[in-house]
Amino acid sequence: MIYLDYAATTPCDEAVVDAMLPFLRGHFGNASSIDHEMGAFANKAVESAREQVADFLGASIRDVIFTGGSTEANNLILRGAGASIVTDALEHPSVLDTITLSLPADAFRIASVSSSGAVDISQLESSLRELGPGSILSIMATNNEIGTRNDMATMSALAHDAGALFHTDATQALTTTAIDMQRDGIDALSLSAHKIYGPKGVGALVCRPPARRNLRALQLGGGHERHLRSGTLNVPGIVGFGEACRLAKSRLKESVRHANQLRMILLEGIRRSFAGAVSVHGGSDASPHILSLRLADVSNRALQGVLRSHLCFALGSACATNKSEPSHVLKAIGLTTREANNTIRLSFGLATRSEDAEAAATLIGEAATSLLSLVA
Ligand code: PMP
Repeated sequence: MIYLDYAATTPCDEAVVDAMLPFLRGHFGNASSIDHEMGAFANKAVESAREQVADFLGASIRDVIFTGGSTEANNLILRGAGASIVTDALEHPSVLDTITLSLPADAFRIASVSSSGAVDISQLESSLRELGPGSILSIMATNNEIGTRNDMATMSALAHDAGALFHTDATQALTTTAIDMQRDGIDALSLSAHKIYGPKGVGALVCRPPARRNLRALQLGGGHERHLRSGTLNVPGIVGFGEACRLAKSRLKESVRHANQLRMILLEGIRRSFAGAVSVHGGSDASPHILSLRLADVSNRALQGVLRSHLCFALGSACATNKSEPSHVLKAIGLTTREANNTIRLSFGLATRSEDAEAAATLIGEAATSLLSLVA
């Protein structure tokens, strides 16, 4: 089986598993029980993971609030800050639904995007002006379905010029894009460990002081994470998350180089073996690890059905695949329902070998051509 769904989740790195195992076995203490040895040991491990997360993102340890992943981190900043919000149409549902279902209609604006996924900057500027100082601009770093990237420094400057704060959902960005919150002017950032070779169900909202000032917890209880996220800390998960951040930092260049190479092999191979037209979504600066393709006149569901025992890949995003409707992202970049139904998403990473990419490209191209001949 060739796995091409890294945007849905990545395999847990061996070094991450090794770091976690002692905390699933003998070192099972509660990180809040610092009055005894075993609790203090767990607490020390959590604090050292906090340092790894902060170091990876150019933040300070006080900025890191551990959560159950990006969904929770997005909810915490977008609902917990009590601010009006400007965002764009390509955001993940954990941003878009959180905003549209929890805020009154006059407290948010959603900017449209171009066919390549680029956000309309003038709409962002006018929306920030309308909502006024103190609002939050929330723009994702890398789109999970088509790979479009947003420039963090440009977005933070837009927000700050309007007296707003800047939050980014960086969940998909961190294996291929260097992000430094201080340098890039990012006030708050959401991430999930399982997208960077860490375990599932753990992540963080990294929130610098201006964004922390008005932040209120969404879940109350024992006052963990400086009263911003109550609940016993997931020590093994957090330790694995810290290790995943350390690894991601040390191999970013290698990860980018490898993804670029795989992308080229896949694209050229599919173009060679598919008899129909191929178009690529996401713009010329799309993240190299996500390749969203439209294979003209080929049903993506039929293709996935034919290749099911050989390849794992997505139609839209993992979160959208249970829906029969085309994803909101493909609609927002202007695809018709038919075009969206011809679209597949291939995503890959460090454990994907060049020969896997070559084999996958031939399988996809040939299967798609045979489906094309069914249509003709
Ligand atoms: N944002 C983006 C861009 C994502 O791709 C995802 C995961 N698909 C999330 C947020 C949510 O992450 P999690 O499910 O780990 O909470």
